[in-house]
Amino acid sequence: MTGPNAHAPLAEPCPVCGTSSLVEIRCKVVCLNCRTIVQSCADLGG
Ligand SMILES: [Zn+2]
Repeated sequence: MTGPNAHAPLAEPCPVCGTSSLVEIRCKVVCLNCRTIVQSCADLGG
């Protein structure tokens, strides 16, 4: 299920608290545990 254009799963854990409970909200990836914005629109390229 991982094609070249497939949406990559959130494999990396939160850099702040280390949990893997990350959720993608619109164009941001937010940690559910500490609410840190792991990735933003610019990082995702749109
Ligand atoms: Zn976190």
